Order: sequence, then structure tokens, then C-alpha cells
Amino acid sequence: MNDKIMILGIPVDRVDYEEALTIFDGFMTGSSFHYIVTPNSEILVNASKDQELKQVIEDADLVIPDGIGLVYASRILGKPLHERVTGIDFLGRTLAYLEKSGQAIFFLGSKPGIAELATVKMQEKYPKLRVAGVHDGYFKEDQEEALVEQINSSKADFLCVALGSPKQEQFIYRHRGELNMKAAIGVGGSLDVWAGVLKRAPEFYRNNGLEWLYRFLQQPTRYKRMLALPIFMIKVLFSKG
Ligand code: UDP
Repeated sequence: MNDKIMILGIPVDRVDYEEALTIFDGFMTGSSFHYIVTPNSEILVNASKDQELKQVIEDADLVIPDGIGLVYASRILGKPLHERVTGIDFLGRTLAYLEKSGQAIFFLGSKPGIAELATVKMQEKYPKLRVAGVHDGYFKEDQEEALVEQINSSKADFLCVALGSPKQEQFIYRHRGELNMKAAIGVGGSLDVWAGVLKRAPEFYRNNGLEWLYRFLQQPTRYKRMLALPIFMIKVLFSKG
């Protein structure tokens, strides 16, 4: 049983990159399906109001603390997280793992052509990475069964779902009984970043917990979503009682 912290009533694993990767290794060498979620402040606020999303996170096999808000919250709650484990950096580590183990990944999500572009960039960095297949993230519900079949027949060992939240978590949860692989993860906009269409915050912003500010400057239309961080912090303070 992993060490957990309850934030807004939702369990988050108190893991750093190394521990998360050790757990991932357990999934990839095991025999059953496991799934990983990477909630940030915004997702936790949504989950605290959305029973279905809350359930998906509660049932996840690994809940990674993605975002500086969770680190601050953990300090307020007196059970500090070791570090922020971002979905995109963790994905990078899983790619290195897969390159070594020889296991294959399937990318599902983002706009047409993006996953292909991301694959090229990933294989520049991890030349032996095996990509079993890709599919964009714009499909109708009645196409999902065929899509799951396509993913399964690709013989992928790991499924990376980049549909944004909560779509990606719901997709994994809805099909967890049919997905025939070792593990799946939801990674938000990571493929856009790998493909180079979305820039990641420079180190200064990342090191100072200001990634949210950089994202705002890049995509000002997301301003409403940016309010999630202060709302989250206020909710955590009140939840402390
Ligand atoms: N996306 C998708 N299908 C959809 C909606 C979104 O594939 O129906 C993709 C979108 O192209 C983007 C990714 O999901 O690459 C993440 O979107 P967003 O930035 O909203 O998510 P976040 O990273 O903030 O969770």
C-alpha cells in the first residue's frame, strides 16, 4: 500500500519520481491492467465536486501529484509531498523505461498529426522506443469500441491518453476492463509539448512554481482555468478545519 495524503478528500500518492517509477515497473512486469492519473489543482477541485471523477481517482493504481498547488497543499496539511511529479516529466521517464524494456507504447489523443510529430521527437531522444500505434483524440462515442480494438490489436504494452481532463480519465476508466495491456496513463497536453506546438515553461518559471503564470501568458483564454489554483488553495485551507 502506497503512502497517501488526502487532499480535498481525494487520495494522492506521496511519491517522488523514483518511487513512481518503481511502482510503474511493478505494473509493467505484472500480469494485470493498472492505470495512473496525474491530477493538478484544477483536477482535484473538479473531482471534489464530481463524484464520478473522484471515483476514477480513488480507484487509480497510482495518483501522481502533478502541480505546485499539491505541494503547497501538502505542506498546509502537515504531510509534505517530497516533490512535484509532473505528468510530462514522468512520461519522459516511462519512455526511457520502455526503450530499455523493449515494450511498446500507443498514443491516443491531441489533434490529428500531433501524436505522429511527438513520436518523431521522442524517437530522436529515445531511438529504440517502440511505438505500437497512434490515434488522434477527436472521435465520437460510437467509435470507441473500434478504437479499443485497434489499440488492443496493436499489442501495445502501455497506453498514453492525451485527451485532457476529465475525458482521458473517463476513457481509461470506461474501458479498463477491455484494455489489454499492462498500464495506461492520462497526460493532458503532453503530446502537444513533445510535438513542439505548445511550449513548456522555461526553467525559471518551473523552478519557482510559476508554470501556471507562463501557461497563462501563452494561452490567456485559459484565464478562467487559472483561477483553479487560488480556489484550490482556499479550499485546502478551509478543509483543514
Ligand atoms: N484533446 C483531445 N480530444 C478532445 C479534447 C482535447 O485529444 O476531445 C486534446 C487536446 O488536443 C490537447 C489535450 O487534449 O492536446 C489536452 O487538452 P487541455 O490543454 O485542455 O488539457 P490539460 O493538459 O490542461 O489537462
